[in-house]
Amino acid sequence: MTDPSSLLREVFGFDDFRPGQGEIVEAVTAGRDVLAIMPTGGGKSLCYQLPALLRSGVTVVISPLIALMRDQVRALRAAGVEAGALTSGNTEEETDAVWNAIHEGRLKLLYLAPERLAAGGTMDMLGRIGVSLIAVDEAHCVSQWGHDFRPDYLRIGELRSMLDVPVAAFTATADAETREEIIARLFPGRSPEQFLRGFDRPNIHLAFAAKDSPRRQIMEFAAARKGQSGIVYCGTRAKTETLAQALREAGHAAIHYHGGMEADARRGAETRFQQEDGLIVVATVAFGMGVDKPDIRWVAHADLPKSIEAYYQEIGRAGRDGAPAETLTLFGPDDIRLRRSQIDEGLAPPERRMADHGRLNALLGLAEALECRRSTLLRYFGESEISCGRCDLCDKPAEVFDGTEAVRKALSAILRTEEWFGAGHLIDILTGNETEKVRARGHEGLPTFGVGRDLKRPEWQAVFRQMMGHDLIRPNPDRHGALTMTERARPILRGEEAITLRKDSIAASKARRPAVK
Ligand code: ADP
Repeated sequence: MTDPSSLLREVFGFDDFRPGQGEIVEAVTAGRDVLAIMPTGGGKSLCYQLPALLRSGVTVVISPLIALMRDQVRALRAAGVEAGALTSGNTEEETDAVWNAIHEGRLKLLYLAPERLAAGGTMDMLGRIGVSLIAVDEAHCVSQWGHDFRPDYLRIGELRSMLDVPVAAFTATADAETREEIIARLFPGRSPEQFLRGFDRPNIHLAFAAKDSPRRQIMEFAAARKGQSGIVYCGTRAKTETLAQALREAGHAAIHYHGGMEADARRGAETRFQQEDGLIVVATVAFGMGVDKPDIRWVAHADLPKSIEAYYQEIGRAGRDGAPAETLTLFGPDDIRLRRSQIDEGLAPPERRMADHGRLNALLGLAEALECRRSTLLRYFGESEISCGRCDLCDKPAEVFDGTEAVRKALSAILRTEEWFGAGHLIDILTGNETEKVRARGHEGLPTFGVGRDLKRPEWQAVFRQMMGHDLIRPNPDRHGALTMTERARPILRGEEAITLRKDSIAASKARRPAVK
């Protein structure tokens, strides 16, 4: 029983490898250094567990999640594999059993919490027991850049030099900075074979829509999928409650969920969702971490998520069973404003905030994409794909126009009013709408006054939204969200660059809305 596919079947009970698993298993088994980037739920653990069984000696697995290690050890032991964990969660008997297995040379997988590496004697012990592979789960914890930095992870590099064995590192974090830092710290002086696989979830249909009347848009989306399990993500706790109520009134089985609920109520909601068919959960992002329901048929975002990573995680909860699933993400200028101010007002250091703006920009780029959403999404994660045929833009290509002139007019209105105003007032100026506010400021005398009469108000709103989406303008938190121009806009203003925009103004999206089934 030493070939991978029979082990896969007989020990793990799977018929086939998931995308990417087979190649990674082969590389790790062959003793090559590996850095594998796979999405959460992609099946990373198998990629070191199976090679551990095929190789002689002990595989040490470093993971920051004690509960997860204990689960894995339990599952492996149930499958007849000699595995053990040394963590702070152990009972004395468990620790004794692990030591016995080590001394008798039976142990195949030894799970270690990173703190253990710092404990006296651990390094010596690992030097003596015949370790032949180090597997590092959640490898981004070694990155000081990232959000989960664990100082003890830095000792893994030391361990590797001491043992001189291959390292197989796994993470779901795909951005280039983190990847480089993982390589520098875990593979000093070597270059691991890299795998980036499995980010595509082909059964999930992707769609975005400009926020028009969000409640109606969500109600229509849910109505067309009545009786199916779904999640609606909302930006605020209050909205989860009102929207769940509205869905119930429309005859759906719907409950709300947010972090402000008592622990018991939260657990109750999770259990109901897990067990009941066709229940809708209207939730904040607090919902989902432990949710492993395979047949969630749809995920809708009533508000824009905070980053492209968050978006991917949240839609990824749909269709785990591989059957078709659908998503819809609504977005509007208020979302963009809110997300920007959350980043600006956060306590993160400046470079982190810049990175967060970048992640939000990536999501906005996806929202405003002109071609296949899946290609745009996968390109961000480093994978490639040509038109997928399973997103709203493949279903119906976006109508586009050369937006350079409109954007330049809008930028000029912003600059002429010294970056002190929001989109509403700027659109009044552009369309020559002499409001009281316009007159009070004397803005009817500006050269830009009325230069945008060729577009209607909703069309201008779409232009401003897309300008925010392309990060040409940003709300200024110190000026109540007044719009300021960013450096990115300069070449367009100067006439050095052109920009293509989508024609889908809010008015157009109304006209095109499909009939409710
Ligand atoms: P992660 O990448 O998040 O660590 P896991 O290793 O926990 O993911 O795997 C996620 C789920 O996928 C688990 O329930 C696991 O049993 C399942 N899985 C892993 N590999 C396969 C496979 N080849 N076929 C079917 N299911 C698999």
